[in-house]
Amino acid sequence: MSQKGDTFYAWTTSQELAKKAECGGAVTGLLKHALESKMVDAVLAVKRGIDIYDAVPTLVTDPKELDNTAGSLHCGTLLLAKLVKKYLDGAKDYKLGITVKGCDAMALYELAKRQQINLDNVLMIGVNCGGTVSPVLARKMIRTKFQVDPDTVHKEEIDKGQFIIEYEGGHKGISIDELEEEGFGRRTNCRRCKMKIPRQADLACGNWGVIGDKAGKATFVEVCSGKGAALLDSAVKAGAVATEQANPKGLEIRAKVEGAMLKLGEKWRKKDFTALGEGRQRLNTIMKETSRCIKCYSCIEQCPICYCVECSTKKPYLVPPGEVPPSFMFHLIRFSHIADSCVNCGQCEEVCPMEIRNSLFMHAQQVALEDMFGFTPGVDMKLPLLALVDEKAERERLSATGSDQIFDIFK
Ligand code: FAD
Ligand code: SF4
Ligand code: SF4
Ligand code: SF4
Ligand code: SF4
Repeated sequence: MSQKGDTFYAWTTSQELAKKAECGGAVTGLLKHALESKMVDAVLAVKRGIDIYDAVPTLVTDPKELDNTAGSLHCGTLLLAKLVKKYLDGAKDYKLGITVKGCDAMALYELAKRQQINLDNVLMIGVNCGGTVSPVLARKMIRTKFQVDPDTVHKEEIDKGQFIIEYEGGHKGISIDELEEEGFGRRTNCRRCKMKIPRQADLACGNWGVIGDKAGKATFVEVCSGKGAALLDSAVKAGAVATEQANPKGLEIRAKVEGAMLKLGEKWRKKDFTALGEGRQRLNTIMKETSRCIKCYSCIEQCPICYCVECSTKKPYLVPPGEVPPSFMFHLIRFSHIADSCVNCGQCEEVCPMEIRNSLFMHAQQVALEDMFGFTPGVDMKLPLLALVDEKAERERLSATGSDQIFDIFK
């Protein structure tokens, strides 16, 4: 019997699935077993659409269809968590299996704290994540840096620090560092991301640490919960998935890679946040850039922390209607409601038609608030900062000082 903290190499026993899968097919094999054994009623995963730049979220109830979701799409920048809340009733009264990257897992936790998702009904298979590449930028990068027609590319992967493509007539790899120096590579929020192995999922799966004859043919699985252990044991017993103990050397390598990725994330945070300036200078930068806003509400629609039925940005006494750009209050509302819980998923930046660096602005504030109060969003079920404000104490302070400003983060 496996238990929390155990580590294995795992792979599917289906040769057909193994051919389609990224690293041995344990993830799809486990999800298929969960569906077949009725541990879950449906699975939410991602499948390739018309090409490698088109990642399509897919709800599957027939186990036979799950093979179509195997494989990693590094241009799949979508966030599944908000879909669960918005279109799948927050898994309120059915069991849902779901593949999650770090940001998906973090967003699911923040939604669960706000009673928008029933986490008890969700079985999370986490995938380690080095980062994703915006599909639009990926096409441009492949054309200009790789000098390859993006429409001829049939496979991409990220391996040993390189972005590698296979296309009609050959394959090419370029180091991610080089690509990022020239403004390509991973999304900027992914560069700053420090959720590389999503241990808040039930199982955390990835290729880091798989060495020897299993390299490329198995996935490294860390058991992160009792639910995860039960799924793995049941899948092994049913013969859907095979496992062996993880190689101790592989375990060491995985820890080193994770450490290096965390350092890199910290380096990008310093670089991006420093470039924003400090205090009033930072405020001016944000005000200047958000003055391009056309109030399309896409950032609110996509953000996993934004789900209010009556959004304050639509209240005429807060944001005067019919004005474009909207008053800065539009952005201040979002900052004040979300900054403590932003999971840096990048969605608000990705969908912004005016290319406003929304995610950077919010993430910079989240990290500042985390430094002040020690609350890290998305890692566990601890309540966010605003839930801790003691209203009575606040009212007394307000009447004693005459100021409603609790902390001046722009001083
Ligand atoms: P499969 O059986 O092939 O299943 C893959 C699962 O991932 C499927 O459920 C599929 O729907 C889902 N999926 C594919 N693309 C996405 C996406 N964009 N968003 C959400 N779900 C998706 N492992 C590492 O150790 N280091 C890394 O740096 C790393 N980066 C990754 C980046 C991305 C974007 C993804 C999706 C995975 C990454 N992985 C990484 C995990 C690794 O690539 C394999 O997914 C993992 O080893 C499981 O392999 P498998 O054969 O068992 O998965
Ligand atoms: Fe992966 Fe983190 Fe980017 Fe999400 S934010 S896609 S977990 S690197
Ligand atoms: Fe994601 Fe942006 Fe919302 Fe932060 S503010 S959680 S980056 S959508
Ligand atoms: Fe709710 Fe505020 Fe987001 Fe509007 S901006 S949806 S009020 S959290
Ligand atoms: Fe403004 Fe961009 Fe948000 Fe649209 S997505 S409301 S343009 S910041």
